[in-house]
Amino acid sequence: MFFPLLKSPGCAAHFACRKASWTVLWLISVGLFFPLWVGYAQPESGLTRDRFVWIFGWDLSRDQDVAEISKVLETAGRSGFNGAVIACGLDTLSKRDHDFFRRLDRVQSACQSNRLELIPSFFSIGYGGGALSIDPNLAEGLPVSEAPFVVENAEGHFVSDASAQLKNGGFEDFDGNRFRSFAFVDDPGKVSFVDSEIKHSGRASLRLQNFTENPYGHGRVMETVRVVPHRCYRVSLWVKPENLQPASAFRCFALGGDRDLAPREFHLPTTGDWQKVSFIFNSLTNTTVNLHTGIWGGKSGRLWLDDWQVEDAGPVNVLHRPGTPVRVCSENGAEKYVEGRDYAPLTSPDFNVWRGDSTPAVLKILPGSRIHDGDHLRVSWYHPLLLNDSQVTVCMAEPELYEIFEREAQLLIEHLHPRRVLLGTDEIRMGGTCQACGHRDMAELLGECVTKQEQILRRYAPDLKVYVWSDMFDPHHNAHGDYYLVHGDFTGSWKYVPQDVVMAVWGGEPNPKSLQFFRDNGFSVLASCYYDADNLDAVKAWIEMTRPMKNVRGFMFTTWERKYDLLPGFGKLLD
Ligand SMILES: [Zn+2]
Repeated sequence: MFFPLLKSPGCAAHFACRKASWTVLWLISVGLFFPLWVGYAQPESGLTRDRFVWIFGWDLSRDQDVAEISKVLETAGRSGFNGAVIACGLDTLSKRDHDFFRRLDRVQSACQSNRLELIPSFFSIGYGGGALSIDPNLAEGLPVSEAPFVVENAEGHFVSDASAQLKNGGFEDFDGNRFRSFAFVDDPGKVSFVDSEIKHSGRASLRLQNFTENPYGHGRVMETVRVVPHRCYRVSLWVKPENLQPASAFRCFALGGDRDLAPREFHLPTTGDWQKVSFIFNSLTNTTVNLHTGIWGGKSGRLWLDDWQVEDAGPVNVLHRPGTPVRVCSENGAEKYVEGRDYAPLTSPDFNVWRGDSTPAVLKILPGSRIHDGDHLRVSWYHPLLLNDSQVTVCMAEPELYEIFEREAQLLIEHLHPRRVLLGTDEIRMGGTCQACGHRDMAELLGECVTKQEQILRRYAPDLKVYVWSDMFDPHHNAHGDYYLVHGDFTGSWKYVPQDVVMAVWGGEPNPKSLQFFRDNGFSVLASCYYDADNLDAVKAWIEMTRPMKNVRGFMFTTWERKYDLLPGFGKLLD
């Protein structure tokens, strides 16, 4: 099972998060801004009540951002658009400094002078950058259960599972061009070769080339390894590409059954020196996993692989919130120990959900503890998981999330006075695995999350219109079971959201089933299309398809690569 990189709505939040390094609390800018919406006329009939442009790829960390955004807004204003949906970290105003607000003020002015309503993109669950920048412990957690620890010198240390091993991960054991121990290596002597000249360590590496010799362009290697269920493992591998085309053909992943236990992207250069790639996965309920790496769909060039390892990673990035408790007990489970009395919080010194890995935490035994040197313990905890490029999902069931949302919603509305908000509900790829949400129906929980967000926003702006990205409510898109690492099922989630939210149906090609589904179930739709194509052919198809649908409020020009050249043409099509 493979998950292609999608240009998806959630990228908005993680862009803001990656770029965010906000350390100065904003305290002084209250009252700097005027209401955004000053009552300009808006067409209220026909296909194009909403003519929005998606402003993505800037975080207002530079003055230049304002100039670049303003240029797009001018084009949009000239091209008949009436709204700019802006994703630039507006869900964490409590952390912004004076410069951010100064720039936001200028963007707001540019919206006004171009007769565009500023519509904030606000909060995301699947790409939890906003909430996580305030409390990274809100990440959804995967459980590690009853891992063995042994106590020495008043410190409990994790005892790793030594059975998880790649037998020939160093690529040292071979016969001719055939490596031993792997379940398979594609096309020995044609695509895969032993290389004893270029290697990272030892006497040899695996070299992959001549990809077109394989009918699929594959050059893959796989081995099955034993794991203990509910443990956290680290896979690492050294790679060296040379004129590799495409570099994105490289993959490295772990499958438990047919589930990718840690969908990740590794951005290799086309040519480069040896570099290490690594990722963390949770074994979930599996007793074996299939580790894969190599090339899928390669065209040309070469890639060397060496020192492929898997190890029981132990307590990395241990989460600390009510829904992710750390539990410490005696080896036989009879004695349950108490944090703060028997041991200090199990924390990693370099906890970082965005790096996806950390130094294993050590369990510090407190003076007067019932735990003594020589004791064997069983320790349970939860850890987050980094998906794809930089996606970390937050837990929708943790009450603190809504406290943060409330504070930020109040700030947003005080400063921007929006009439509409777009909520980041897309691509919620984890959930149902921590103590807070594990017992919940995921469809109902998602609906409850959106309902609460709408209620909170309307406490401060009673007439606010709420838009949401549609995929998690659409059975023809992501509202189903077996979705990435979600434990549970999003089927029927649309039944739990207020009917007055507008579904932003997104994608490059029009999806008639999705549009019909929302029409038949009484939801208004914003058609969010374009997706960085080289022309507007697909947009024309969207327009034709939606023309007879009275529930379609309008369109949003949606780019993820700051490709605004076709914005005027898009506007013309809506006339
Ligand atoms: Zn949870």
